[in-house]
Amino acid sequence: MSETIFGKIIRREIPADILYEDDHAMAFRDASPQAPTHFLVVPKRPLTNLLDAGPDDTLLLGQLLQAVVHTARTLGLAEDGFRVVINVGADGGQTVDHLHVHVLGGRHLTWPPG
Ligand code: AMP
Repeated sequence: MSETIFGKIIRREIPADILYEDDHAMAFRDASPQAPTHFLVVPKRPLTNLLDAGPDDTLLLGQLLQAVVHTARTLGLAEDGFRVVINVGADGGQTVDHLHVHVLGGRHLTWPPG
């Protein structure tokens, strides 16, 4: 995959509001928040998107969701809930080609999305 802005954030070459980090994942606030709380969880390994995740990535996908839950709890989202979204490809609205999990909370979110 080609280099993306998220790779630069992971390597701390450009600034981000980093909320959580472990050996496999990083969480940072979205630069264009769509809710009072909006952060992204990314794998440090640069998978392009969910379609790029194979059987060897099963553990990693679980670790991403664990990072989602940990960070959501830390930010106080557990009580009222939150939304988890993974955009995949053009129709999914994916604009950055590094797998990322959106986490949105802090307001009531409507359904369906646009
Ligand atoms: P997607 O459209 O699913 O690919 O989401 C990409 C997200 O990355 C968007 O919500 C952007 O606002 C966000 N984004 C782009 N550049 C940055 C950045 N430098 N720091 C934090 N979030 C970013």
